[in-house]
Amino acid sequence: MSDLRELYQEVIFDHYKTPRNCHVLDCANHQADGYNPLCGDQVTVYLKVENGVIEDLSFKGTGCAISTASASLMTEALKGKKIAEVEHLFEDFHQMVTAPDTTPHPELGKLEALAGVREFPARVKCATLAWHTLQAALKNQKKQISTE
Ligand code: ZN
Repeated sequence: MSDLRELYQEVIFDHYKTPRNCHVLDCANHQADGYNPLCGDQVTVYLKVENGVIEDLSFKGTGCAISTASASLMTEALKGKKIAEVEHLFEDFHQMVTAPDTTPHPELGKLEALAGVREFPARVKCATLAWHTLQAALKNQKKQISTE
């Protein structure tokens, strides 16, 4: 288990140091801003949705390693996904970072790197900020969303 944990930390560190899809998406037709006042994490999520499919997505923001890595991993995981699948993945992801049990979630792929967050309840909002912001973007919510 400790080897696995090291690997997970490596994934988080890698995505924090070199975030994927971290830029403004000029062709975006959905976007929203999110803020986690507990930690000071800020993120803007950009989406290009066509026919119910996320054709492209990106994010810009400043925050801690967990929030940045989570946003980066999320953009990688959701490109090309149907909106319906996204809802399902978010449910699984949310369960993974909040549930006390350690049931594996193979459908989450690399997102499982964030499973360790469940041991740090204060960081759950860091890990889910990008996802909440994504949901707001899908609803074209103009007001900045806050985890509080
Ligand atoms: Zn944070």
